[in-house]
Amino acid sequence: MQGLVTKSTGSWYQVQTPEGDVVDCRIKGKFRIKGITTTNPIAVGDRVEFEAEPDQATGVITKLHDRKNYIIRKSINLSKQAQIIAANLDQAILVVTLASPRTSLGFIDRFLVTAEAYDIPARLVFNKLDLFSDEGLEILDEYKQVYESIGYPCFQVSAIEGTNILDLKAQLKDRITLFTGHSGVGKSSLMNAILPELSLRTSQVSDWSDKGTHTTTFAEMFELPEGGFIIDTPGIRELGIIDIEKQELGHFFPEMRERMHDCRFNNCRHINEPGCAVLAALENGEIEPSRYESYLSIYHGNDTRA
Ligand code: GDP
Ligand code: ZN
Repeated sequence: MQGLVTKSTGSWYQVQTPEGDVVDCRIKGKFRIKGITTTNPIAVGDRVEFEAEPDQATGVITKLHDRKNYIIRKSINLSKQAQIIAANLDQAILVVTLASPRTSLGFIDRFLVTAEAYDIPARLVFNKLDLFSDEGLEILDEYKQVYESIGYPCFQVSAIEGTNILDLKAQLKDRITLFTGHSGVGKSSLMNAILPELSLRTSQVSDWSDKGTHTTTFAEMFELPEGGFIIDTPGIRELGIIDIEKQELGHFFPEMRERMHDCRFNNCRHINEPGCAVLAALENGEIEPSRYESYLSIYHGNDTRA
């Protein structure tokens, strides 16, 4: 039987069939992923085959289908060990606010780079629309324009007043969506606005301990009444940036990616090289200065997290 893993506790996996039945499953055998060592072989979002156990109440996962993407979290101390947080994401949404608290552009760009590196389409949700004056709304529209022109759809919502929540719901329908954002931006309020019947359970999320031994993070998917799932990863305040070679960084900025093949040197870093197509585009206003600043900041290893 085929199913979707909707919850993981480390030893048990909740698997949902296309018919909507939910079966608790264990794993049999080894499931390895090329290139990395993971502490957990299967995560929410995984598509698996399973067989019913003789008791008919539980099951055994026998096969893991190929993932189209997955996000991992690395041990701080054990650099080679990683934990898969979730797989097969259709999109990742970053909830941000331009005021109280203000999400920095550097943080937004860092999230977008990470999503590009993970091959997950990213969207931005600007919350607390109700707090903005006309002037503030103009600035918000400018951001929207900047990010949408690069290919990241933006939503302007108010969780408190319910503004544009229907648009956001339409974006979530029939998709597996990862929700993330700094604390205080209204992520929980938004989740409640989207899923009023959901009383968000406090999840058992713990961190890597100081000794580097891991404890499992349990991400859980919530099914939307209209179809689709939301993955909330409490405790993981942001997608950690994964290892990106400096030389590759430009590939994760779509507006640079589409221009860099015109650079004179094929190993152009887009910093001060003559004949750089990216710098030319920056010069004539086709590339947003704040985006380029984020590129430099990540390139030089500065922490842009606000
Ligand atoms: P989380 O930490 O991201 O989960 O944020 P919460 O949902 O707990 O919200 C943080 C604070 O922002 C709370 O005081 C909320 O009432 C407030 N808040 C959330 N959404 C909105 C909104 O759309 N407008 C305004 N004005 N406040 C909001
Ligand atoms: Zn260049």
